[in-house]
Amino acid sequence: MSLATDWVALYRDLHRHPELGFEERRTAGLVAEHLGAAGFEVEEGVGTTGVVGVLRNGEGPTVLVRADMDALPVTEKTGLDYASEVPGVAHACGHDVHTTCLLAACHELAETKETWRGTLLAVFQPAEELGIGAKAMLDDGLYERHGTPIVVLGQHVAPLPAGTVGLHAGASFSALDRLDITLHGVGGHGSQPQTTVDPVVMAASTVMKLQTVVARETSPSDFAVVTVGKLTAGTKANIIPDEANLEVTIRSYRDEVRQQVLASIDRIVRGEAAAAGAPKPPDVLHVEAVDAVHNDPAACAATQPALASTGVLVVDPGPVPGSEDVGCFATAAGAPCVYWLLGGADPVHFEGLTSLQEFADRVRTLPSNHSPEYAPVTDPTIRNGIAALVAATRHWLPTS
Ligand code: ZN
Ligand code: ZN
Repeated sequence: MSLATDWVALYRDLHRHPELGFEERRTAGLVAEHLGAAGFEVEEGVGTTGVVGVLRNGEGPTVLVRADMDALPVTEKTGLDYASEVPGVAHACGHDVHTTCLLAACHELAETKETWRGTLLAVFQPAEELGIGAKAMLDDGLYERHGTPIVVLGQHVAPLPAGTVGLHAGASFSALDRLDITLHGVGGHGSQPQTTVDPVVMAASTVMKLQTVVARETSPSDFAVVTVGKLTAGTKANIIPDEANLEVTIRSYRDEVRQQVLASIDRIVRGEAAAAGAPKPPDVLHVEAVDAVHNDPAACAATQPALASTGVLVVDPGPVPGSEDVGCFATAAGAPCVYWLLGGADPVHFEGLTSLQEFADRVRTLPSNHSPEYAPVTDPTIRNGIAALVAATRHWLPTS
């Protein structure tokens, strides 16, 4: 086996050795090694653990192709013989697929460089799951040192049938905001609530009232989600604590809706605290903010035939409620983004189905990204992912 020809073996190796955001050192080392072998200029340690590969190939535009490298704090339950060997960490979002496919695409484009010209900027980013890896690379001077791209391309593996690619123009992945909220009360003995301001009751009331933001305030035609995923307070039944903490995740596509939901949450949290007689206003920390991914309609329309030319079926899956920070690269460059879903579900699950509705219903029954059982089928997913990246990149690079 030459250094870089057995891409499935590399995929399985990455899958066995997942690393969390900003800890992708082994992965980054492998990426740098393979990029170097393909003749790329390599810069490591960009935005902590990101890797950049640059292939300058004469006059022409710079095209950015991006993969993410990080894994999740999940205990894998796929039963695969190449399952994670790292306790409590797994590639449950398939970023190992993205890394493998982009490395292979880089090799293929390097081997055929007499057929195109321009600059290929391969970006392997850390910490996508933390929502800050792309920004870390940009803040570290990615474009200052390597040039600003005319387009940002990338893909995310998904439980669509392998052999399909999902491409949606417009808002494709939701904006994500996370608020960490501390409600202040007055603690005391559980037998004497009259001497306290109970933050547990304040938190319970706040959680219920927050359900009205989407149900009663945003338009039914606008997508928005408000989820209180974590609620902590107290230590013991007979102690009324002096504070309660909420962690809230918010998803939206349109910026107006995003701002409306954030303002409503702030109003409700402060209002509930005031109504309960809190000794001081709550602390509301905006700890995560990732913009929606907007796929440029013209750029999608231009790239779609290239994707279809690889033999996959290109479908419009509609917008995805999950979030992604790939859009940061496009926003910072003032360039269009084309980010597609790569089908990774074993086609056997879809045999005999005839209607789109049947397909959509079946997709819903399969383990999705972030599930401990999520396991894309390696073939033809890896092959299709490589072909899609190569074809889309070639579309944006002039022929020589
Ligand atoms: Zn994920
Ligand atoms: Zn992901």
